[in-house]
Amino acid sequence: MEIDTGPGAAVRDGGKSSAFRFSPGDLSLDTLTVHGSDLFDPATGAISVPIYQSSAYRHPGLGQSTGFDYSRVVNPTREKLEKTMARIEGGKYALAFSTGMGAISAFIKLFGPGDHLVVSEDLYGGTYRLFDEFYRPYGFSFSWIDTSDPAKLKAALRPETRAVFIETPSNPMMKVTDITLCAGLIHKQGGILAVDNTFLSPYFQNPLSLGADIVIHSGTKYLAGHNDSLSGFLVHSDPGLEEVLRNIQKSEGASLGPFDSWLTLRGIKTLALRMERHERNGRILAEWLRRHERVEKVFYTGFEDHPQYSLTCSQARGHSGMVSFYLKDPRDVPVLLRSVSLILFAESLGGVESLLTYPLAQTHTAIPEAMRLSAGVNDRLMRLSAGIEDAGDLIADLSAAFEQCGKSE
Ligand SMILES: *Cc1c(COP(=O)(O)O)cnc(C)c1O
Repeated sequence: MEIDTGPGAAVRDGGKSSAFRFSPGDLSLDTLTVHGSDLFDPATGAISVPIYQSSAYRHPGLGQSTGFDYSRVVNPTREKLEKTMARIEGGKYALAFSTGMGAISAFIKLFGPGDHLVVSEDLYGGTYRLFDEFYRPYGFSFSWIDTSDPAKLKAALRPETRAVFIETPSNPMMKVTDITLCAGLIHKQGGILAVDNTFLSPYFQNPLSLGADIVIHSGTKYLAGHNDSLSGFLVHSDPGLEEVLRNIQKSEGASLGPFDSWLTLRGIKTLALRMERHERNGRILAEWLRRHERVEKVFYTGFEDHPQYSLTCSQARGHSGMVSFYLKDPRDVPVLLRSVSLILFAESLGGVESLLTYPLAQTHTAIPEAMRLSAGVNDRLMRLSAGIEDAGDLIADLSAAFEQCGKSE
């Protein structure tokens, strides 16, 4: 959905208009998350965007349309969410998909046989599976590299490289890739940069403003934020690309349904508040884990001795609630996973509930062992998504679970 970036001063119908009286560009992110699309529903005054649970729309006459024909193509609730996403991510257009993988599937269809993509080696396992199992056999080629290393990045680019796809910070090793540097390198040869921004959300990082062409989100995580809904997004600012992507969305059919669009819109309203708390809890837990005798190493972008700390601070405004760590002893893994009780052993992130994940057996099973190990995903790696609970309660829970590890020796 294209958003109105012109001067928004028009009070179109004597103050009844739900449009902003000022340009959305003048509003801070905290305000846009609450009032992202319109201030209210012009037809009824409803403050919450209505759920348009309709598959089809009546045409006024032959050759006429209300602008809505069939909900796979456009749905009013989804349209409001797309407008909100475009605004908070700093793009002109956003497309909402049924899941993050739905969004990534649409992205990869921009390319064809013979095209080469450079991709972060340390990334969401589902993205690896999609590219490697389903697109490589069709003649696509991929180089999986540590994109946080500029030398490796430069060496991986080929004349037929059409895109660079990065996750930064990466999942689960929290490596940080220089977005502006990547954009410069791939633009020089006419390709595009896509950034999966799921880990930081638009609240902490806006890759389009750093030179990226497409931002990808699993809205399932921080955006919706309550572990109750799945969604995915592509955000960008190119009219030509919009035409192609809309056609892919319409043809493939992984469009987000009205109820999940509404849940995601509702989640986004508290994004700013939640991200502040996720970050605070993430920092407290990262520091606590770093001091724990059973923990070998903690990966957290907010540590001053993180290898890319200054880069992180220059391109992001925060660190979210994501913390990974190596245990010293792999035998502690099953004990810890069954002993946490407030923190839930589950395979997701970014929600109000704190979750503990074992990437080797959960999010990263699709990645071949050699590649997984070279990225650092070994049998002692745990990933923690700090929720918004009281940090003291979370530490008490972790502490009690670690005590169980000690007992099994
Ligand atoms: C979860 C996730 C995805 C996939 O999103 P779904 O909504 O589960 O399809 C993609 N990228 C990252 C970084 C993720 O965490």
